[in-house]
Amino acid sequence: MNVPLGFRLLKVGHCTHPECITQRGGRFASVPFPALAALLIHPQHGPMLYDTGYSDAFFAATEPFPERLYRMVTPVSLQASETLDAQLARHGVAPDSIRHVFLSHLHADHIAGIGALSQARIFALRAEVDAMRRASRFGGLRRGYLPALLPSTFDARLTFVDDCVPIALPGWMRPFEHGFDLLGDCSVIGVPLPGHTPGQLGLLFRADGARTVFLVADACWSLRALERDRPPTWIAAQLFADKRAYLATFAGLRQLLARRDAPVVVPSHCESTWRQLSEASPQ
Ligand SMILES: [Zn+2]
Repeated sequence: MNVPLGFRLLKVGHCTHPECITQRGGRFASVPFPALAALLIHPQHGPMLYDTGYSDAFFAATEPFPERLYRMVTPVSLQASETLDAQLARHGVAPDSIRHVFLSHLHADHIAGIGALSQARIFALRAEVDAMRRASRFGGLRRGYLPALLPSTFDARLTFVDDCVPIALPGWMRPFEHGFDLLGDCSVIGVPLPGHTPGQLGLLFRADGARTVFLVADACWSLRALERDRPPTWIAAQLFADKRAYLATFAGLRQLLARRDAPVVVPSHCESTWRQLSEASPQ
């Protein structure tokens, strides 16, 4: 990871959930769940994205029944200033100039903005794409998938992460040992984080300022829950593909976080991480 990348965290809308469902021992109050995406700037490949957050396409896709149940269960807010287009414009990035988008997994809150990225190669783990393809309309919806959000060119633009060069992760990433060199220059390493979905992908890279950053999507929902060893309740875990694998990944992140040389761990829905990192690098 000798190529430092520009790194800006984007909050592309949010939803709310009762905290007592999202973590064991949580409060009854509803807490905001920001939908975070990351804008990375590579010196050769230009701007790239990890996930996309919500978009107007999410509201269109959840207009009919049964898909409408998704937004009834998970009320979503997306202000005009928060859309991916608006935020990319503030960073001087044209959506068409994005040539790489790395999808952590295919849940709607991570992929809803992908329609704006017509020129991007799309990276995802094979198990994740297979899971979405295998699911029925109702079964997929129950699992958080809205295939209507994917562009018609998805298959043609898809690169399976599994087909990228496998690499051994450095010792300070233990217990995570295996990753994939997504661009062939060791600048962006994909790390499988199974459990939440069959093929969830974390992203490891060196950001400018010499920080090493590990984007971990929904492998944990807040850093505080990780630090206090409070994984989601059994109700939330019903949505997970493999509860045992989820807990193993969660425990692995706890082990990693306890190290003095741990990377900056960034979950996709952690409000305090969002506040901290957005204050450190104003949007
Ligand atoms: Zn998810």
